[in-house]
Amino acid sequence: MEYHDLTTEFLSRFDDYDHHECLRRIEDTQTGLVAYIGVHNTNLGPALGGCRMYPYQSEDDAILDVLRLSKGMTYKNALAGLPLGGGKSVIIGDPRSLKTDELMAAMGRAVQTFEGLYITAEDSGTNEHDMMAMAQETRFVVGQEAKAGSDLGGDPSPRTAYGVFCGLKASVAERYGSDDMSGKIVAVQGLGSVGFDLCRQLDAEEAHLIVCDINQEALDKAVATFKNVTVVAPEDIFGVEADILAPCAMGAQINETTIAQLKVDIIAGAANNQLATHEDEQRLMDKNILYAPDYVLNAAGVIAVSYEYQESIGQNSFPHDLTRANMMAHIEQIGATLRRIYKIAKERNISSARAADELAEAIFKGDAAPSVETSVSVASS
Ligand code: NAD
Repeated sequence: MEYHDLTTEFLSRFDDYDHHECLRRIEDTQTGLVAYIGVHNTNLGPALGGCRMYPYQSEDDAILDVLRLSKGMTYKNALAGLPLGGGKSVIIGDPRSLKTDELMAAMGRAVQTFEGLYITAEDSGTNEHDMMAMAQETRFVVGQEAKAGSDLGGDPSPRTAYGVFCGLKASVAERYGSDDMSGKIVAVQGLGSVGFDLCRQLDAEEAHLIVCDINQEALDKAVATFKNVTVVAPEDIFGVEADILAPCAMGAQINETTIAQLKVDIIAGAANNQLATHEDEQRLMDKNILYAPDYVLNAAGVIAVSYEYQESIGQNSFPHDLTRANMMAHIEQIGATLRRIYKIAKERNISSARAADELAEAIFKGDAAPSVETSVSVASS
């Protein structure tokens, strides 16, 4: 396996380059692995972010993605109150044809070259099984199956759904003065691992659901499971009369065209990168729609894996034990973080998305305290 770090001079030509601490190119001819690992910022601790596998058209596309995603993780981890910096890795290739256990083990060796400064997890194109393959070569990997005797670990999606639920309720309280969900109409786009579980929690609190998906099976299950649910076609979800829209499918769904159709007061969902452009922040403000910044709302998955990681290395940076109850209480802090963001946005008359970015920057640059007390920790290899 060969690897080298890209120079600042080379990286400066990429728009998303933001003084990343390291961008490493890895190649392993035996397994066909070509990958990049980006570490954006480690002020708060080792960089944690998932490993994506995708058939990028070019190496420049892969570099662009890893620069953007690793920077995003710095912001997400800071606002989640984690003793972690931001990093991400990308493997070039179609996971359906190129992925083997040997290739993932080689990726594990690549992660190990950071000696703990980068910790990986699953992302699109990789799964729990791949994390186990990587774990043969490095212990800096999370998102593995829950270990016997531990109540941490396993699929983070139910945690993510709970975090979205907490953040959605905090947004409802911000807008309506109470977080009572009974009778509130919530339009949910996408009934996958997170969307369906979110609906389950909303249904338990007597919300009315309007749902869509491109998968008929998921829709049938929703109709059979929930008390008050209406199914609409995917193209109709943005125009429905509802209180809240919860995008839980894919990114860039909130754009000039869909904003024009919206008849909701709040957007609060799990999908990553919901806003297509920065201009959409202003468009939402103009329509008086409260936007819960996606990376704040969907951070529970990373909160969960940070507990799992600290347990696995036998270190604890929190002033509380690494129990499931404490992890759930940490996830519930997403509501408090959102309240802080909404307050900043209101006081300064800026968008909630911008307020979130500014608060994250203040936290990882050491100018503001995180919502949850932590201390810096880098594990020795
Ligand atoms: P998933 O793949 O399980 O579910 C996505 C669902 O959206 C599927 O049911 C799919 O059929 C549906 N869908 C796709 N295109 C659609 C369309 N045009 N209209 C309506 N439905 C459509 O994914 P997930 O794990 O539930 O994640 C949902 C979103 O949340 C993704 O954007 C993901 O990146 C983000 N997210 C997930 C987690 C997690 O822990 N799973 C963590 C952070 C962020």
